[in-house]
Amino acid sequence: MTDSDRLEALCAWAESKGWHVDFSPHEDEAIGLTRTINIDSRRKPRQQVYALCHECGHVLDDECHRERLLPSEKYYSDTQVGRIAQIECEINAWRRGWSLARRLKLGLDRRGYTRAAVNALSTYIVI
Ligand SMILES: [Zn+2]
Repeated sequence: MTDSDRLEALCAWAESKGWHVDFSPHEDEAIGLTRTINIDSRRKPRQQVYALCHECGHVLDDECHRERLLPSEKYYSDTQVGRIAQIECEINAWRRGWSLARRLKLGLDRRGYTRAAVNALSTYIVI
Protein backbone atom coordinates (compact mmCIF):
# COMPACT_ATOMS: atom_id res chain seq x y z
CA MET A 1 0.00 0.00 0.00
CA THR A 2 1.39 3.43 -0.95
CA ASP A 3 0.97 6.62 1.06
CA SER A 4 -1.49 7.95 -1.49
CA ASP A 5 -3.57 4.74 -1.05
CA ARG A 6 -3.45 5.35 2.69
CA LEU A 7 -4.54 8.97 2.33
CA GLU A 8 -7.35 7.85 0.05
CA ALA A 9 -8.54 5.23 2.55
CA LEU A 10 -8.50 7.78 5.39
CA CYS A 11 -10.36 10.38 3.28
CA ALA A 12 -13.00 7.77 2.40
CA TRP A 13 -13.37 6.94 6.09
CA ALA A 14 -13.74 10.64 7.01
CA GLU A 15 -16.32 11.16 4.23
CA SER A 16 -18.27 8.17 5.59
CA LYS A 17 -18.50 10.06 8.92
CA GLY A 18 -19.69 13.22 7.17
CA TRP A 19 -16.34 15.02 7.20
CA HIS A 20 -14.49 16.52 4.30
CA VAL A 21 -10.70 16.50 3.97
CA ASP A 22 -8.83 19.40 2.38
CA PHE A 23 -5.14 19.45 1.54
CA SER A 24 -3.82 23.00 1.64
CA PRO A 25 -0.73 24.83 2.93
CA HIS A 26 -2.15 25.50 6.41
CA GLU A 27 -1.73 23.85 9.78
CA ASP A 28 -3.38 20.43 10.29
CA GLU A 29 -6.77 20.86 11.91
CA ALA A 30 -10.19 19.26 12.44
CA ILE A 31 -13.00 21.84 12.62
CA GLY A 32 -16.26 20.51 14.01
CA LEU A 33 -18.34 23.49 12.91
CA THR A 34 -17.78 22.82 9.22
CA ARG A 35 -16.82 19.14 9.63
CA THR A 36 -13.65 19.85 7.75
CA ILE A 37 -10.18 18.43 8.27
CA ASN A 38 -7.27 20.30 6.82
CA ILE A 39 -3.99 18.50 6.20
CA ASP A 40 -0.89 20.58 5.57
CA SER A 41 0.00 19.91 1.93
CA ARG A 42 3.56 21.17 2.49
CA ARG A 43 4.42 18.02 4.45
CA LYS A 44 5.76 14.79 2.96
CA PRO A 45 3.08 12.19 2.06
CA ARG A 46 4.01 9.89 4.96
CA GLN A 47 3.71 12.77 7.43
CA GLN A 48 0.34 13.66 5.90
CA VAL A 49 -0.80 10.07 6.56
CA TYR A 50 0.21 10.33 10.22
CA ALA A 51 -1.42 13.74 10.57
CA LEU A 52 -4.65 12.57 8.94
CA CYS A 53 -4.80 9.53 11.28
CA HIS A 54 -4.45 11.97 14.17
CA GLU A 55 -7.14 14.35 12.91
CA CYS A 56 -9.48 11.38 12.34
CA GLY A 57 -8.67 10.48 15.96
CA HIS A 58 -10.14 13.84 16.95
CA VAL A 59 -13.26 13.05 14.91
CA LEU A 60 -13.60 9.82 16.93
CA ASP A 61 -13.23 11.58 20.27
CA ASP A 62 -16.57 12.88 21.55
CA GLU A 63 -15.01 14.95 24.32
CA CYS A 64 -12.72 16.76 21.90
CA HIS A 65 -15.41 16.90 19.32
CA ARG A 66 -17.45 19.27 21.45
CA GLU A 67 -14.45 21.52 21.93
CA ARG A 68 -13.70 21.44 18.23
CA LEU A 69 -16.87 23.38 17.48
CA LEU A 70 -14.59 26.38 17.78
CA PRO A 71 -11.44 27.07 15.77
CA SER A 72 -8.28 26.12 17.69
CA GLU A 73 -7.30 29.68 18.60
CA LYS A 74 -10.66 30.07 20.40
CA TYR A 75 -10.65 26.86 22.46
CA TYR A 76 -7.01 27.05 23.43
CA SER A 77 -6.88 27.92 27.09
CA ASP A 78 -4.06 29.50 29.05
CA THR A 79 -5.21 28.02 32.34
CA GLN A 80 -3.36 24.94 33.59
CA VAL A 81 -6.56 22.89 33.59
CA GLY A 82 -7.30 23.94 30.03
CA ARG A 83 -3.81 23.13 28.84
CA ILE A 84 -3.79 19.70 30.48
CA ALA A 85 -7.21 18.94 28.96
CA GLN A 86 -5.82 20.00 25.60
CA ILE A 87 -2.81 17.69 25.92
CA GLU A 88 -5.05 14.81 27.02
CA CYS A 89 -7.24 15.41 23.99
CA GLU A 90 -4.17 15.41 21.72
CA ILE A 91 -2.79 12.16 23.19
CA ASN A 92 -6.20 10.48 22.85
CA ALA A 93 -6.43 11.55 19.22
CA TRP A 94 -3.02 10.01 18.47
CA ARG A 95 -4.11 6.77 20.19
CA ARG A 96 -7.44 6.61 18.37
CA GLY A 97 -5.70 7.47 15.11
CA TRP A 98 -3.43 4.46 15.56
CA SER A 99 -6.41 2.17 16.25
CA LEU A 100 -8.14 3.49 13.15
CA ALA A 101 -5.00 2.88 11.04
CA ARG A 102 -4.98 -0.71 12.27
CA ARG A 103 -8.69 -1.15 11.59
CA LEU A 104 -8.24 0.17 8.05
CA LYS A 105 -5.18 -2.10 7.66
CA LEU A 106 -2.96 0.75 6.52
CA GLY A 107 0.19 -1.15 7.48
CA LEU A 108 1.76 1.86 9.19
CA ASP A 109 5.13 1.77 10.87
CA ARG A 110 4.58 2.06 14.63
CA ARG A 111 7.92 3.76 15.29
CA GLY A 112 7.36 6.37 12.60
CA TYR A 113 3.87 7.05 13.90
CA THR A 114 5.12 7.37 17.49
CA ARG A 115 7.85 9.76 16.37
CA ALA A 116 5.27 11.95 14.61
CA ALA A 117 3.08 11.86 17.74
CA VAL A 118 5.98 12.80 20.04
CA ASN A 119 7.03 15.65 17.72
CA ALA A 120 3.51 17.03 17.62
CA LEU A 121 2.89 16.59 21.37
CA SER A 122 6.15 18.26 22.31
CA THR A 123 4.84 21.52 20.81
CA TYR A 124 2.21 21.57 23.58
CA ILE A 125 4.78 21.23 26.33
CA VAL A 126 6.64 24.38 27.32
CA ILE A 127 9.61 23.72 29.55
ZN1 LIG B 1 -4.63 17.30 17.42
